[in-house]
Parts: sequence; C-alpha cells; structure tokens
Amino acid sequence: MRDIRFRNLEKYRVGGTRDSMQLALPPPKSPSGKVYRYSPNPDAKPRLFLIGDAPEDRTVTEAVRQRMRLDPGSKQTVCPYSGVVGDDDDFVHADDIEAVKKHVLWLAENDVSDLLGDWAKDFNRRQPRGAFISMKMEHKPRRRPKPLAIREDLLRSLECELCHREYGVYALALFCPDCGAPNVALHFRREIALVSEQIDLADELDQKGNVEIAYRLMGNAHEDVLTAFEATLKSVHAHLVKTHLPDQVDKFLGKKAVGNAFQNVERGRKLFAKLGIDPFDILDEAGIKHIQLNAEKRHVLGHNLGIADDHYASFSEDLEPGETVTLIGEDIRRFGGLCLQVVERLEESLLPGQTIGLQE
Ligand SMILES: [Zn+2]
Repeated sequence: MRDIRFRNLEKYRVGGTRDSMQLALPPPKSPSGKVYRYSPNPDAKPRLFLIGDAPEDRTVTEAVRQRMRLDPGSKQTVCPYSGVVGDDDDFVHADDIEAVKKHVLWLAENDVSDLLGDWAKDFNRRQPRGAFISMKMEHKPRRRPKPLAIREDLLRSLECELCHREYGVYALALFCPDCGAPNVALHFRREIALVSEQIDLADELDQKGNVEIAYRLMGNAHEDVLTAFEATLKSVHAHLVKTHLPDQVDKFLGKKAVGNAFQNVERGRKLFAKLGIDPFDILDEAGIKHIQLNAEKRHVLGHNLGIADDHYASFSEDLEPGETVTLIGEDIRRFGGLCLQVVERLEESLLPGQTIGLQE
C-alpha cells in the first residue's frame, strides 16, 4: 500500500513524524486582528482580554525597561486585571482549543476525502479496457463548510505606550499584558478623552438651542469623571492590598471597609494613608478643593436634580441653596485633568519593586 499523505494537515506541521504529526494552528482572530486570552487567575474579574500581534523591531531603553515587569515579547503574559504572571500557554482560551480542534478535524476530513478520490481515479485507471466485466468506482466529495469561529473585539482597545503592543480589555486594566508595565494612567487618559468629546457634543447642542439635553449631557460627562476616578482608585487600592498585605484583605477590603469612600477625597486619602501612600500630594490646596467641590456637585446632580442644598452651598462660594448648579465644560475638563494627575501619581505604586507597608 502506498504512503498516505494528509496534504492539508501537513501545511500546519511543525514537528513530529508523518505518522504522528505535531501541528500548530493559529487561533481565530477578532476583526482588529487580536486573539482571545483568558487569565489563569480565578480571582481576576473579568478574565477575558484580547491581544494583538507583537510589533516588529521593538527597542526598549533601560529607563523604560525599569517600568516593565517582563521583556516585551517574552514567552510569558501578564493578566491585565490582576497582574498575575504566567506562561503564554496558561492564558489560552478554552474556546480557542475547541476552535482549533474543529479546524483540524475539518482539514483531516478533506484530506481523507481527497485520498478516496485519488484511490477511485487510480482504481478506474487500472481497469482493463474492453474486458467482459467493467467496474467503475465513483467518489463524490462532500465538503462541509469550514468551521467558523467568531471573535469579537472588546470595547476598549489600547496600545501600551512603552512596548506598543495592542490589546483589548473591559474598560479598566492595571497592566500591559505583554510587558507588565502599569497602564492605569493610559486607561484614565482614555476616559478623560471620551469626557472631552461629550463636552464638545454638549456645547454643540447648547449652541443649537437644545439647552436641556445639553445640560443633561454635560451632567453625564461630569459624572463619568467621578465614576472613572472612583473605580480607578478602588481597583488600585484593592490590588495593592491583595498583593502587599494578603493577610489583611478582610480587614481592608471587607464589605464595610471601602464602600463609596473613594467618592470623597478625605476618606479615600485615609484608606491610602494606611498603605503609606498619598496620591493627592501631587496637587496644591486649590486642586484638591476643586476635586472636592466637584465630588459634592455630583451628589447634587445625581440626587437632587441639580438644585444646590445647604451642604453643597457650604462648599460653593457663589451659590445659594435652591439654585441650580452650573456645569461649565472648562471646569469639568479641569476636574478630569486634576484626577488624572492623582492617577498618574498613584500609578507609581504599581511599578515593579515597590514596597508598600502597613502604616498604623
Ligand atoms: Zn507594554
């Protein structure tokens, strides 16, 4: 019997023998060319993220390398949500294994079908002409459509500013999955850029006379700054406690320990002070006051239809209780810019080799 060859499968052979081939098939890609990754850390919430191809020719200076946890393009990956480092293989998504298995099966089926077709042709050629009995073998190839695996991009797609690898995550990630550099300020800058676009939109509507919807949109932009700021402080704080003080997790991250403390400068600051960190020390008094005033404004907008109450009026210099709080685009941009400074300062605590201690 002649050699059996799996022509389609052999294209993916990377080793082994013809009888026992070692194959390597690429996982399915999203429309932007990224592949699924799944954090091996069960505590990471969420666990799914996407990663693009490694850019060619990445040169990393020593100063930049110090901010990274891994050499870019190493055989390891960093969970962007939890910072856990593992081999690339540990991050393979189960759906991709299934997709590749189906693809291999499909290729093998086609190879077997081609083989049977070749045999039939061979058999027919060998039949003697003009014989008393003639036999003809017919092979009807039946091709199944190629199995389809759909991979969708996540809403947030970013490029690490240090190693230039593209990746996709759900809203907020702390680290670059390739080099492990803290990327939290990069994410926050995206939030602020989106807020800025909302403000432009609100201004446009306002000029067209759509005052009420413009005010509503401006209120949302304002709220988004505080929501992103609170979520970022909360995530970094939780990460620092989990990694530096694992035996204090219940005490520091228990149900009542955090709550909405990060909506308030003083309460948030106290939580970080316990870890020996003060991310607000980058701002002067006026900057801190501006964040405080805007955090209070959020409560008035969110819970009192924008009407100043006694508490808010005590913060604001030019507003009496009962008056509608003003929302000016430039103020919101300043608010976002100040929050960004705090986040950039806080990001330093995520750099490799940082020691964070408990401050009693
Ligand atoms: Zn990176």
